[in-house]
Amino acid sequence: MELVSTRGGASSRPLDAVLCGLAPDGGLFVPRRIPQFSGETIEQMAGQSFTEISATVIHAYFDQIPQADCLTMAETAYCSFSAQDVLPLETVNDKANLLYLDRGPTLAFKDVALQMLPLLMARAQAGEQRTLILVATSGDTGKAALMGFSDKPDTAIVVFYPENGVSPAQKRQMQTSVGKNVAVYAVQGDFDDCQRGVKNLMNDADFRAAVAEAGYGISSANSINIGRLVPQIAYYFYSYAQLCRRGRIKFGEPVNFVVPTGNFGNILAGWYAKHMGLPVGKLVGASNSNNVLYEFVKTGVYRAGLSLHQTISPSMDILVSSNLERLLYHLSGNDAAQVSAWMEQQKRGEDFTVSEQVKAGLDEEFCWGWTSDEEAKQKIGQVFAQNNCLIDPHSAVGYAVYENLCREGALSGQTVVLCTASPFKFAASVLAPLGVTPQGDGCDGMLLSEASGRPAPEAIEMLWRMPVLHTGVVTPDTMKNAVLEKLADPQFGC
Ligand SMILES: *Cc1c(COP(=O)(O)O)cnc(C)c1O
Repeated sequence: MELVSTRGGASSRPLDAVLCGLAPDGGLFVPRRIPQFSGETIEQMAGQSFTEISATVIHAYFDQIPQADCLTMAETAYCSFSAQDVLPLETVNDKANLLYLDRGPTLAFKDVALQMLPLLMARAQAGEQRTLILVATSGDTGKAALMGFSDKPDTAIVVFYPENGVSPAQKRQMQTSVGKNVAVYAVQGDFDDCQRGVKNLMNDADFRAAVAEAGYGISSANSINIGRLVPQIAYYFYSYAQLCRRGRIKFGEPVNFVVPTGNFGNILAGWYAKHMGLPVGKLVGASNSNNVLYEFVKTGVYRAGLSLHQTISPSMDILVSSNLERLLYHLSGNDAAQVSAWMEQQKRGEDFTVSEQVKAGLDEEFCWGWTSDEEAKQKIGQVFAQNNCLIDPHSAVGYAVYENLCREGALSGQTVVLCTASPFKFAASVLAPLGVTPQGDGCDGMLLSEASGRPAPEAIEMLWRMPVLHTGVVTPDTMKNAVLEKLADPQFGC
């Protein structure tokens, strides 16, 4: 397996790419050739666990790691999940299925990748290198990465989240993080400021030199890192296998996937699954009112200069979706020069318009919808009352878009809606549709448990009893100093 940069200036072995996160030319690493699974391999998955399927997918990309080791890594990564089958698939009606991706230690789908990434990272470091991991988070990546890398040898991690852009439980999760190699900062800005800030640091030669002086290389735990993306491909195969096993489909029949989308990482994993041979019908992106991707898929114009709306699905409050660059590269027929030009336009704050070839690819493979907070709330109430399913506001965006497309007759066959987070992370927003008035951050989890008849996850129960350890606030301009000061602190590090 060889990876190349979307900007054309670099290539890498997969494990080396995990160590650097972003390609040296500022692009993202993608497979030069997407690995293929035979029909037989996919059909066999109906008899396999998520862990086994994960090992097969990891090995297809990280072919430097023997298959048996991939299996051990997957077993290690997913034993921390609370569900016995790791990712439960629930049937809603004769066409719709929910895949719960929120049973990991931090209660969001980010755990699926971020329980695996540290194992890939350790393999890449081979005990010979120290790595500083920089993370920008819209709420869920931060805690999942902090949990994954806390007190891991040879690794330090610094997380930046938007000060007023995450839910109370998300903020508390990050502020209470333990480990002597972890640091967390609130940024006075939105997620796009955090993400831009981190990308700028990764491309800043002076900063890199100072970090190297302190003994570290730099990497990322965001989905710009290929090691974040690959583990996510596995659950598309797993859902398909489960539908076969339960007789909901015959092998070969296409299945649609609905993906609540922000940074385009999750849905891109679905696109890779399809191009590895999985029979996928439509890939449906679902946006909240930050619907820049909806407009893009419809028109081929990616808008710049929009202003961000704060919604009840904060992990999707994103306007610059970094993984789209990977899709543009593939759909343009690997035209790195073209992709570089579009990304330069975007960086200058201009709209960019994709070629007809790319637009045709978008039309053929994607369907897109978006929904308001009002509609998402209404959907939370509806699926609870009618189907006894409890879903979070992000998943509700997905479900609302799904139902709208069904009404328009745009989808046929079985559909899997990905549930990306636990409703307990967004208790206040979920209580109201259930007819209960929220009472404040510390109580809402308990109230939701009473109202829904489901126990609050232990990670939520503990949250409000743990001491707050991280209260630092920075601006986009002082992110650099904050990291350098941390590195100079003798108390900090691995
Ligand atoms: C991160 C996140 C998303 C968006 O996923 P992308 O890979 O960024 O598109 C959706 N829902 C939840 C709960 C998330 O944490």
